[in-house]
Amino acid sequence: MSKPVVAIVGRPNVGKSTIFNRIAKQRIAIVEDEPGVTRDRLYAPAEWLGHVFSLIDTGGIDIDDAPLMTQIVAQAQIAMEEADVIVFIVSNPEGVTDADEHIAQMLYKTDTPVVLAVNKADNPEQRQEIYDFYSLGLGDPYPISGVQGTGLGDLLDAVVAKFPQHQDTPEDASVHFSVIGRPNVGKSSLVNALLGKERVIVSDIQGTTRDAIDSRFQDENGQEFTIIDTAGIRKRGKIWENTEKYAVLRAQSAIERSDVVLVVLNAEEGIREQDKHVAGLAHEAGRGVIIVVNKWDTIHKDTHSMQQFTDAIRTEFQYLDYAPIVFVSAKSTQRVNTLPALIQKVAENHERRISSSVLNDVLLRAISVTPTPTINGKRLRVYYMTQVKSGPPTFVAFVNNPDLVHFSFQRFLVNQLRAAFDFSGTPIVIIPRQRK
Ligand code: GDP
Ligand code: GDP
Repeated sequence: MSKPVVAIVGRPNVGKSTIFNRIAKQRIAIVEDEPGVTRDRLYAPAEWLGHVFSLIDTGGIDIDDAPLMTQIVAQAQIAMEEADVIVFIVSNPEGVTDADEHIAQMLYKTDTPVVLAVNKADNPEQRQEIYDFYSLGLGDPYPISGVQGTGLGDLLDAVVAKFPQHQDTPEDASVHFSVIGRPNVGKSSLVNALLGKERVIVSDIQGTTRDAIDSRFQDENGQEFTIIDTAGIRKRGKIWENTEKYAVLRAQSAIERSDVVLVVLNAEEGIREQDKHVAGLAHEAGRGVIIVVNKWDTIHKDTHSMQQFTDAIRTEFQYLDYAPIVFVSAKSTQRVNTLPALIQKVAENHERRISSSVLNDVLLRAISVTPTPTINGKRLRVYYMTQVKSGPPTFVAFVNNPDLVHFSFQRFLVNQLRAAFDFSGTPIVIIPRQRK
């Protein structure tokens, strides 16, 4: 379940984000160019020769107005705390700088393995000139070029060789969910309310430090749940904890390990710009999503309040039209007990698989009632549909010409699927492909 985490550290301008973007896997755009969906990534899934891992660019975590050294120290600390392997990047043309030495000294103190990469070694001569970097005392320097992509293979070989040995952890069948939202919406209160209501399981499973901060509980039906990153939700008083970028990183790392994400809003304050940012993260990751409107106790309610809030959510988060909305109060625990069953249902829908025969019955019925679109005199034909994966449900539609499948037709297919099967809470991905 838990993938190794690789963090990139180094002073500004050595090429961290260039390397990050080279190594990070392209994300699958569920819907392209949605407003409100974040584009700047600090955290991304990655893969090298069958090893899957998560990649963090600590350079993106900046603490407002703090001096350079404070920033670098905080970034290195985050890496030491979060990562299984640290990639320390320096720059060949500039040689070893004071800031590099400072970072190296911090890294001596950690047990986390460090791989030293010398970037901007763009040609064979420069790749020969890396011996100065042995003075950093971090072993062999790996010459790389972020702009050309050279040397990354050797670097990644060295990185994956340092991954922790696979431990045989018992199969974990619990539903994993995370609770995300901007500061003060009531995430920790909600987690406490959930843990207060349900039977908390004290787990003696040995895990890594990062696993140890999850909380496990069982609902009244015996279904087990794991709340991801409970310690990240409860603050520990580190200086970088209040930066938005760090919060985003934390949220992304929690989402990555979740089946279902609870996006928490604050009824008292309404919907803010930052809420859209947070919701966009959940949507992009392709997880199940539930929108939880917290602090419902603070609203002077009349018969329309819930409908009005629902309408506002549907307008502001159009891409999350599949997410159920729940109105709760973590303070009075009102309706908090409805959450576990809903989380379980969304997790099931997220993993749902439909057989091809049933799927094609639905498809044939749909296109017999509604003709497929014609574009420039060419009619789209859909021959066959098959589900290629779940989590989220992903369907390939074999067509005469994928260019004829526009957004509105994808939307039509998704709506047909939602009408025929219970996919509430989960995004659905449709991939048009030319029939050979
Ligand atoms: P960061 O601040 O460490 O994230 O650095 P960036 O990735 O933003 O890169 C800083 C600058 O170095 C940019 O202008 C990059 O285009 C440049 N750069 C990154 N990698 C290389 C490289 O391998 N060779 C050269 N010549 N320039 C690079
Ligand atoms: P977090 O930053 O998202 O983890 O938010 P907290 O759980 O720390 O809550 C922020 C503040 O909102 C605290 O003062 C809580 O007591 C308060 N709060 C949380 N949930 C509710 C609620 O349902 N109703 C009311 N009235 N206050 C709440």
